[in-house]
Amino acid sequence: MKNLKIAIQKSGRLNEKSVQLLKNCGLDFENYKSSLITIVSNFNLEILFLRDDDIPDYVEQGIADLGIVGENVIDESQANVDYLQRLGFGKCTLKLAVPKDANYTDIKDLDGKSIATSYPNILSKFLQEKQITAEIHPISGSVEIAPGLGLSEAICDIVSTGGTLKNNGLKPFADVSTSEAILIGRSGLAENPILCELLQRIQSVLRAKE
Ligand code: ATP
Ligand code: ZN
Repeated sequence: MKNLKIAIQKSGRLNEKSVQLLKNCGLDFENYKSSLITIVSNFNLEILFLRDDDIPDYVEQGIADLGIVGENVIDESQANVDYLQRLGFGKCTLKLAVPKDANYTDIKDLDGKSIATSYPNILSKFLQEKQITAEIHPISGSVEIAPGLGLSEAICDIVSTGGTLKNNGLKPFADVSTSEAILIGRSGLAENPILCELLQRIQSVLRAKE
């Protein structure tokens, strides 16, 4: 049977738990940090190590059959992929934050303001739903410094402890969406026997954790 390919994050917040999940499924592979692809010796699977941002597109195009990536990254990419299984790790919240002394009371107070974010697509959908018109400044990193530099009046970014916000004179204002790691698949893969076997193993690993 032809091997399936699964893409996971090469390094970063999801790498270790993705590797651990696959190992807990009984898959035997060498986790070479220097290699971008590794073959599972006891299962019809190859593992590709990629930047998380690239994973939804690789899966949409069928270069990888499966992927493990944050919901936030999938939603922002707008890639057409199947959500196969929520994985329960990598949980985080995308939040709007404003300068700590700003006296915004309602989300509508953002009307006419400018917001810096690495998630322009998710933010624009959220603002549309709330019928707020704001100017979105897409930037790729260090979003928290934007208000201090005068680039924007608010930000929209992933917040976990809030420490980075505080250090930059910001406070959380409203939640935009929550996220966790998800197993995604290219469309048309659903009946694949290798996927069915892998999904069963993943689900029993997740059940054992409950
Ligand atoms: P890459 O080099 O692969 O592009 P990255 O720097 O974009 O990595 P990480 O910071 O490693 O990404 O985060 C990967 C994912 O982990 C995020 O997209 C998100 O789904 C999840 N995550 C969980 N907690 C946090 C957090 N506190 N901050 C940021 N991301 C988090
Ligand atoms: Zn990334």
